[in-house]
Amino acid sequence: MTTQKEMFGELLLDKKIVAAITDMGFEEPSPIQAATIPLVLEGNDVIGQAQTGTGKTAAFGIPIVQSIENFRQISALIMTPTRELAIQVAEEIGNIGRTRHIKALPVYGGQPIERQIRALKSGVQIVIGTPGRLIDHINRGTIHLDHIKFLVLDEADEMLDMGFVDDIEEILKALPTERQTLLFSATMPRPILSLTKKYMKAPKNVTITKEELTVPLIEQYYYETKDKVEGLCRLLDTEVEGKLIIFCRTKKGVDDLSIALSSRGYMSEGLHGDLSQTQRDRVMKKFREGACDVLIATDVAARGIDIDNITHVINFDIPQDPESYVHRIGRTGRAGNTGIAMTFITPREFRQLKLIERIAHTRIQRRQLPTGADVIERQRDQIINKMQTVLELNQYQDYMSIAESLLDDYSAEDIAAAALKLMQEGPKALQAQVEETISTDLQNTGGKPGMVRMFLNIGRAQKITVKDIISAIAIEADIPARSIGMINIYEKFTFVEVPEEYAEKVLGVMHKNTIRGYKVNIEPAKQKK
Ligand code: ADP
Ligand code: MG
Repeated sequence: MTTQKEMFGELLLDKKIVAAITDMGFEEPSPIQAATIPLVLEGNDVIGQAQTGTGKTAAFGIPIVQSIENFRQISALIMTPTRELAIQVAEEIGNIGRTRHIKALPVYGGQPIERQIRALKSGVQIVIGTPGRLIDHINRGTIHLDHIKFLVLDEADEMLDMGFVDDIEEILKALPTERQTLLFSATMPRPILSLTKKYMKAPKNVTITKEELTVPLIEQYYYETKDKVEGLCRLLDTEVEGKLIIFCRTKKGVDDLSIALSSRGYMSEGLHGDLSQTQRDRVMKKFREGACDVLIATDVAARGIDIDNITHVINFDIPQDPESYVHRIGRTGRAGNTGIAMTFITPREFRQLKLIERIAHTRIQRRQLPTGADVIERQRDQIINKMQTVLELNQYQDYMSIAESLLDDYSAEDIAAAALKLMQEGPKALQAQVEETISTDLQNTGGKPGMVRMFLNIGRAQKITVKDIISAIAIEADIPARSIGMINIYEKFTFVEVPEEYAEKVLGVMHKNTIRGYKVNIEPAKQKK
């Protein structure tokens, strides 16, 4: 083992700053920091490209803090796309600058400008702001650009996406030419490259590639199910504990899911573009302070929010592209913490999942959802407590005669267990629990080795042909027609063999589906004894 990790002290940093960074709990520089800090200290313009969560803030914050000499003027301007990011960047830089008594101030729209003006007058060296508000201050003369030595464009791609390009150019043009320009972005679309050409001087490129970025500490799983709400609740009831972000594709998805969750007794908060800034702030505050552990968001709404200690990212809807997947899951497992990413797919989204795996060079493992029994096992103590209370209170005489009449046919244990099921699951307990029944034993179905034999409740009576069966299964379940094995059609039913790896998918997709207009029940066949 000769992997030699560079330490902060080796990056020519002031002892005071090393002390501040150590206090922040940083042990060693992240790759982007190790590469960027020396370049900035040597006076270069730098273009840094790295995924979210790789420590870009400190990559520019540390060398800027170290370079500040003039305590009476603003020496550095940092532009961020959102107010939340401005606040977070200001906080982080404030921490880095603590031992040098350097002040970083966030300015953004929505906060009374007078308050910001007062704060600016009190002596700050670094200002972090959204482009619009920065221009406002520059025009009012409350921020002077004459002494600016550093200009940072943080999350440049997001700023361009949000339409800030003209504002950015306006500021860039007004700045002294004697300055360093640093630009950070997760992606480098063309308009950014043209900005760098126009406004940066012989910039050095630092790129941390995706492969290095796939954080090994993140465990990634996917769950295939047709009932994602039910699946999510089972996860919430069993293995998912901590702070989580659930991603949905649309605003409506966010609203629907938060209603579905609250009707099932889970506390969650939704975040999407339609919320006012005040509502967003309230949600984020609750989440950050732990008053609520489940945040449901769209990709857009989640942009620019940055919260530590997220334990799980759940893709309730599979992301539309691999980048978005990487972006989403990068919100957990930050800075050496462990994290888990869970993705729900419906059987039809399997291809999309494979595409993400391929492009993002990652492996997402398949996992089974916890069963109803797992959930109950988790709730065991709670149930026992509840029951003990009811028993101690001894006020269930009204039900006694019903219990007694059931005793004629069933044992006391069976009746009690059934009553508990009804209590826990409500009306659902009465439904034929198809999903569970069908996912039971896929072995011993009497199929050839590697194949699962399925039973279908339609046959010759419905004029079903081999071709009907093959095309229905191949098309609906999206599996190769060639992979389908032996098919035996009888008068009222049919047996068909499918490869083990597709068995669940076929069951999921075909159950209650139709073949030639007939609704079908499909289940694993029982082997002849
Ligand atoms: P980015 O801007 O690349 O998305 P951030 O700068 O917001 O990433 O950093 C993500 C998190 O990692 C922050 O909580 C930050 O404090 C932490 N962090 C940054 N650098 C280090 C480091 N060298 N060691 C430990 N934690 C770090
Ligand atoms: Mg950042």
